[in-house]
Amino acid sequence: MNTNDFSRRDVLRLGGGLAAASMLPTSALARSLWTPDAFLPGASKTKRVVLVVFGGGVRSRETLQSDNVPNLSQLAAEGVLYTRADVRNNGHYGSATNIFTGAFESYGIRENARTPYPTLFEYIRRDAELPASEVWLSTSGSDQETNYAFSSDATYGSRYGANLIGGEGIFNAELREVLLGSGMSNRESSDERATYEALRGAIRTPMNVSGETALNDPEAAQRIEQYITDELRGGVSDITGLGANDAKALRVARNLLGVFKPKLLAVTLRNADVAHGSFNDYVTVIRRADSELGSLMTAIRGDPELADSTAVFVLPEFGRDRDLNARRGLDHGDASDELHKVSLVAWGPDFRRGKTVSRDVQSIDVTPTIAKMFGARTPKSRGSTLPQLFA
Ligand SMILES: [Zn+2]
Repeated sequence: MNTNDFSRRDVLRLGGGLAAASMLPTSALARSLWTPDAFLPGASKTKRVVLVVFGGGVRSRETLQSDNVPNLSQLAAEGVLYTRADVRNNGHYGSATNIFTGAFESYGIRENARTPYPTLFEYIRRDAELPASEVWLSTSGSDQETNYAFSSDATYGSRYGANLIGGEGIFNAELREVLLGSGMSNRESSDERATYEALRGAIRTPMNVSGETALNDPEAAQRIEQYITDELRGGVSDITGLGANDAKALRVARNLLGVFKPKLLAVTLRNADVAHGSFNDYVTVIRRADSELGSLMTAIRGDPELADSTAVFVLPEFGRDRDLNARRGLDHGDASDELHKVSLVAWGPDFRRGKTVSRDVQSIDVTPTIAKMFGARTPKSRGSTLPQLFA
């Protein structure tokens, strides 16, 4: 791609992968009074949470009931495994949104709209008075996923949303060429300069998909820009092939966690949906994502600050049908338990170890559970706190 073809529209589209919500104008005093420990009943050691929506429609049979996911299996063995988390098939977007809102709203034809229910990000940022730089969402890159960052609820909404980073939108070869490629050292063309400036502007002052302007504080924005430049140098753009978008989302999450050590980091995956057309590709995607999950966990375990203070939750938005379709793939439309009951893993310093819970829980329990660990209320969630979680 010639950088001169890099239109402003492309820049905005790429920048749209990095929307950020405005910083809550809390006083420094209010924030200094907030300590996580004071708000975590039974969770005295947890200071940050990573939530992985291992999505795209993934059955337990190909994950924890198989040898495809050694890293997820290790997490389950060291934490709490809920074997029957109830989900609804509201489509990939709707069902993933259910996890973030803690409500089983059905989306139907409004699949591209923001949810009217506040998200976990908003609940936590509002009640715990966290700036945007403490709350992140790393997606595999589709436009739809950008909607997870915040709801259309008037009392919450964009000003409490997550910093959003789409691995595929930001970390691709074209953008690296623009920022770091040969054109970078000899920036004579005013078009290229304008493109570069527009991109910097888009990163510093990102636009979300509905066009609302949102800001990080300048210090955080500068760190974010530096982080993105480092990532473009560091090889994330080179991740290609089957499941690459998911792999990027997890790689970005791993690196974000090391750099920003945010209070809440969510990752959304969706490449496993290749299962509609190929069972084998589906398994390949799952294995790749598990490998990247392992890399994320190695980073957590290897960082003295993160190792004893980070909790991790992993679940898909739903499973898949019990039987193969005519293409020897797997759809998601039957009423089987393979579709509607998923595995949920919770791992962390305050949680039980090696505990399997076989009673029914719900995917919408995740948000109220995490929110409560931060001392945040979830007035519009319909879920409950996960049982038998804390040691
Ligand atoms: Zn699908």
